[in-house]
Amino acid sequence: MALYYCKKCGRIAHEVFSEKRQICDCCKSIMFTVPQKYLDDELDFMIKNDLSEDLLREELVKTSLEYDQYLFDHRDEILSKQSAELDAKRAIGRAILEEQNRTVNCSYCGSSNVRKIGLFNRAVSTELWGLASKKIGKQFHCNNCGADF
Ligand SMILES: [Zn+2]
Ligand SMILES: [Zn+2]
Repeated sequence: MALYYCKKCGRIAHEVFSEKRQICDCCKSIMFTVPQKYLDDELDFMIKNDLSEDLLREELVKTSLEYDQYLFDHRDEILSKQSAELDAKRAIGRAILEEQNRTVNCSYCGSSNVRKIGLFNRAVSTELWGLASKKIGKQFHCNNCGADF
């Protein structure tokens, strides 16, 4: 375990998956190892008791060329927005999975050998056949009897 800091936004984070390059989860910059003098002698992954993260930021982040005042001031905001977006993405992912796992049976012959008609296919058929397309509003195609429903 080691501690890393971002020169751009001041994010301080623990090593992730012991990869050589640590990427800041806030601004996607490459992070740097926190120098030993800031670290607790016994616990390498902790800031020394008498030093604070703020001091580290004052000394290492604000003095660096990469320092970005906007990112620094909005770091927490950006991070919480990102985690909200991540949650939203996960929720969408779950909904898609549920949709995919939903078993559908052909409403004509009852076969479960059914495939979903993708948006792409629907777009193509709209293009080819215009509004007269039988596939419009149809979501599934039965591979057994060939019906769309
Ligand atoms: Zn950063
Ligand atoms: Zn069928």
